[in-house]
Amino acid sequence: MAKEHVRVTFLGGLGEIGRNCAAIEQDGRIVIVDAGLMFPEPTMYGVDIILPDFRWLIERRDRVDAIVLTHGHEDHTGALRYLVKEINVPIYGSPLTLGFARHRLTEARVAKDLTFIEVADGERRRIGPFEIEFIPVTHSVPSAHALAFHTKVGIIVHSGDFKLDLTPIDNRRTDVARLAALGDEGVALLLCDSTNAEEPGFTASERSVGGALRRLFLERPERRIVVACFASHIHRVQQIIDVAREQHRKIALMGRSMESNVKLARKLNLLHVDTADFVDIENIDRYQPGEICVICTGSQGEPLAALSKLSRGDARFLKVGNDDTVILSSHPIPGNEWSVGRVIDDLHRAGTEVIHSGREPVHASGHARQGELRTFHQLLRPRNFVPVHGEYRHMVHHADLALTMGLGAKNILICEDGDQVEVSAAGIRRSGQVPAGFHYIDGSAGDLDERPLEERRMLAEFGVLQIAAGIDRDRGIITQPVRLTARGWFDGEGDRELLAKVTEGVRDAVEAALRDGDRDEQSINKVAQRAAGRMLGQKFRRQPVLLAAIVVL
Ligand SMILES: [Zn+2]
Ligand SMILES: [Zn+2]
Repeated sequence: MAKEHVRVTFLGGLGEIGRNCAAIEQDGRIVIVDAGLMFPEPTMYGVDIILPDFRWLIERRDRVDAIVLTHGHEDHTGALRYLVKEINVPIYGSPLTLGFARHRLTEARVAKDLTFIEVADGERRRIGPFEIEFIPVTHSVPSAHALAFHTKVGIIVHSGDFKLDLTPIDNRRTDVARLAALGDEGVALLLCDSTNAEEPGFTASERSVGGALRRLFLERPERRIVVACFASHIHRVQQIIDVAREQHRKIALMGRSMESNVKLARKLNLLHVDTADFVDIENIDRYQPGEICVICTGSQGEPLAALSKLSRGDARFLKVGNDDTVILSSHPIPGNEWSVGRVIDDLHRAGTEVIHSGREPVHASGHARQGELRTFHQLLRPRNFVPVHGEYRHMVHHADLALTMGLGAKNILICEDGDQVEVSAAGIRRSGQVPAGFHYIDGSAGDLDERPLEERRMLAEFGVLQIAAGIDRDRGIITQPVRLTARGWFDGEGDRELLAKVTEGVRDAVEAALRDGDRDEQSINKVAQRAAGRMLGQKFRRQPVLLAAIVVL
């Protein structure tokens, strides 16, 4: 391997959509790209969010020079509030990206001693050991950037999240000219968004959503319309506002993040609306249904967000019913389909008309499909490629795509969280692995590792069985009889019989141990657990969590 190399360590986002984080390192100095969170699957009981494992970074905190943010989505910024407690270095990003991040950090009360450094589109800055360029890209949040790291082995491009929208709402297009120029200079390594790498063709322009919304509004002049979307999707909010204004509707906002994001975007001149167009949600009953448009959060079915409250009839100032149309201007993130489905059902129960992306084109993805990915590869013509930001299959498809674009197989690596790669004049190679498991956060209990979570899964799936008894040490006999208590699976006569059998089995095993002279409480409890576990597993195919509380006195 050549002496001069740059090392990239992937700490999250390769193998899942979420918790994006990578470290780029030259001569021992590190710049972190993004620090995102991931939302749990339904079987991760009690888990509120999942973070990257930051231990590798924390051990090297003295060598970290900066955190650079590609854009303001939670899967790129949501873990910052945990990371900055350990590593306080300047945070770079566009004004909107930093505005969103700073708001969250302030809420978490960790923003005080942090340094935020705003960068402009196209700006090139010395950050740590690199010159880093911030290249405008289109995405489902304004002011997103791809990053070009000018390193001693050549240019490393990190695409961030992007699509190639040629008609974006703010006319701020992906800077393809600059990307092509970087391609001419020579790109040593491309790290590129794989979210839609399975999808052929091109992602629809964000502008197409406006047309669909306009038609739906026009067809419903008498109805109150509630539109739910991501609070960070400022361009979607802009289009909803534009359509509502055209039809002389007042706009009411619902949901805290919607209010704060709209405020910030207006301040940054990224959202254009007059204060006179708004009405407070508590006053909407003064208007006819056809004079109101509500924009709310909760399009992912989040139980505490505005739309869920609306669907349950729990929202304070708005009850939806026969006069209302709810538009979910969104697509469920994998894992949220069930919650979204429930919200839609509840809205139907209330008599509300519901329109979602499965029925009408009221959503456009923020991620590039194959056609755009090919264009991106062609512009940059990288010497080496690692697909990022995707589940495993997305990255495989993206690697295949890179092959068809002429890259050699030895210049493409499919990596996963924890993998390290080194890029040099000689090419790219895997150089190591660091811990990068899921770091679970339970809002009430704090950090969790795999073990308690596995126990929660076992409890949820199989229930619990407690074994109690009392033993007289001197006489070596059972004085308090063996008693079993089951929770979560005990079900009627059949199980009563089963419990009686297991009780017998446990008693026999304990008595046998006592006959052998065993008087150790811990060991007798183990004997009882093993006996119960064996019987339940082998004879009855049950694996409850076993708790033994046998006392030797
Ligand atoms: Zn993302
Ligand atoms: Zn994103």
